[in-house]
Amino acid sequence: MVHTDRVSALQNPGRLPMVTTPAESATWTVNARARGAVAAINLDALRANVGRCREVASGADVMAIVKADAYGHGLVPCAVAARDAGATWLGVALLDEALALRSAGVGGRVLAWLGSPGARWAECIDNDIDISVSARWSLDAVAAAAKSAGRRARVHLKVDTGLSRGGGTIADWSELAQAAHALQSLGLVEVVGLWSHFANADRPAEPSNASQTAAFDSAVDYARGVGLEPEVLHMANSAATFVLPQSRYNLVRPGIAIYGLSPGEEIGTSADLGLTPVMSLRALLASVKQVPAGVGVSYGYEYVTREPTSVGLIPMGYADGLPRAAVNAGPVLAAGRLRTIAGRVSMDQVVVDLGSDPASPGDEVVLFGVDGPTADDWAAACGTIAYEIVTRIGPRVPRAYLGADR
Ligand SMILES: *Cc1c(COP(=O)(O)O)cnc(C)c1O
Repeated sequence: MVHTDRVSALQNPGRLPMVTTPAESATWTVNARARGAVAAINLDALRANVGRCREVASGADVMAIVKADAYGHGLVPCAVAARDAGATWLGVALLDEALALRSAGVGGRVLAWLGSPGARWAECIDNDIDISVSARWSLDAVAAAAKSAGRRARVHLKVDTGLSRGGGTIADWSELAQAAHALQSLGLVEVVGLWSHFANADRPAEPSNASQTAAFDSAVDYARGVGLEPEVLHMANSAATFVLPQSRYNLVRPGIAIYGLSPGEEIGTSADLGLTPVMSLRALLASVKQVPAGVGVSYGYEYVTREPTSVGLIPMGYADGLPRAAVNAGPVLAAGRLRTIAGRVSMDQVVVDLGSDPASPGDEVVLFGVDGPTADDWAAACGTIAYEIVTRIGPRVPRAYLGADR
């Protein structure tokens, strides 16, 4: 197979090279090649990005956020690599995500913050997972689970300082802090953290950033006043880690920056921030054929060829996470040129107009990555953010890990 690829590459000069370097053979694993698509995950870049966040955090510890399958990059390999690079904490939304880390043998401090009534509190306590609490009902649920587990629960109290999403309101804070202190005195919980989350950290000049940190400082003062002695205070996501130094306290929670992507235009590009994108989405053309001028391409004929041309088929569609909004807009590097996909995104495939450039089935195309368009380019083309572009890449796309064996 490799031999055939090399021969065909030689027969078609000008095509993108096939398996020629160790990095490429790591990308095109047997599974990826058989599928014709891959999300290559560069763990060396992830480790460097964690290092960059540690440097920027200037003394605060780093909690690498690995929720949502590490933003589509793969929970366990990314968690392990982040740990290697000095992230002393890992953060996930769901309690089940934290339990998945433990099942895979990932140790150390892990915080999970999104438990609904009925969540696996006791299993998390058994597995030494830190749990966020935002309300009396969850505090009581955690305390009851601690009692049944016969083990104290480590709790981070979350205060809503202005996002109006998770967290206890300022109005409820005194009751929550006092109740937590009472349960701590009974030996059922240990309040190890106080925390909050920003609404507008990606827009550093927004007045809400200063009012949220001020509200957090008051909440911390109040909690200390009732006798709580938290080990960690944390507020900063990626954007705040980079641009709101007063929000770093002694722990920061970067997510998107770990994956090498910018948290927002006002914060700077990946390169400005010293970050390297970790995911590269690539495919092998599933077919190439000649079509005449004036033919409609894909459902609804939203693309019509202008001249006789060749069209290539990319075996990925919205079932794989390509946004359907990418019609005639999603960028692709194919047959040596930057193009946009032709017509609508189907469930399983998209088409690209290759013009008169030579191409063959099996040629590699780059949808995004360091050597092609970026996830930000896809986000701009689809009216969304790079977070969503990488996170939505689905399980039908095999992940290939580069730098995994360091
Ligand atoms: C997702 C999330 C983060 C990380 O946010 P980024 O913008 O990706 O850095 C941090 N904290 C909480 C509570 C989150 O939900």
